[in-house]
Amino acid sequence: MEKQMSTKVENQVEALMKETSAWTTGHFLLSSGLHSDQYMQCQRVMQYPEYGLTLARLLMQKVSDAGLAPTVIVGPALGAVHWEVYCAIAANQIAGKTGMDQIRAVFAEKVEDGVFAIRRGVEIKAGEKVMVVEDVTTTGGSAKKVVQLLENMGADVIAVGAIIDRSGGVAQFGRPFISLLELQLETYTADACPLCKAGGKAVKPGSSVLTK
Ligand SMILES: [Zn+2]
Repeated sequence: MEKQMSTKVENQVEALMKETSAWTTGHFLLSSGLHSDQYMQCQRVMQYPEYGLTLARLLMQKVSDAGLAPTVIVGPALGAVHWEVYCAIAANQIAGKTGMDQIRAVFAEKVEDGVFAIRRGVEIKAGEKVMVVEDVTTTGGSAKKVVQLLENMGADVIAVGAIIDRSGGVAQFGRPFISLLELQLETYTADACPLCKAGGKAVKPGSSVLTK
């Protein structure tokens, strides 16, 4: 039963990501120079609020089911700016919180050399229960920096969440890491790329969508 439930969530995530071309299949030349048969750009799904909220409800329900109750959701900007808002709205709906009791949505912005800060008059209080969210976790580097920032501010970072964990188990945060879908996306050097061997030519991600 539980297995069926999780498969259903995974299918729903995949369907929304593919409908919006946030997850595309083809033959891609990534910015790293490697080739891949899949590409992800979550902002393509986040631009549709209904879909963003659907994904957020799925994630925040898992967080709630795990007995975790953050009072602030923090996302690294710019990639998670929409996502952290959707997650906070979903968490408030699930917990029935309103007014000044609401679970807040806060973004951490990059200020210099990859250093994050929370600015613009927003405060995180010492001991506040905070959850850090990102859309796709590849290495978890940005999320780790934001966790560290919040810890330095005295917050209690109780969980990290993502739509997709494609880290292959590498991303560890020293606290519960909750994702909706775990994926192994293969990448190849041009020499070893099976799609090139089959006679195909890699294109930069986005170009196949833009010319549609
Ligand atoms: Zn190739």
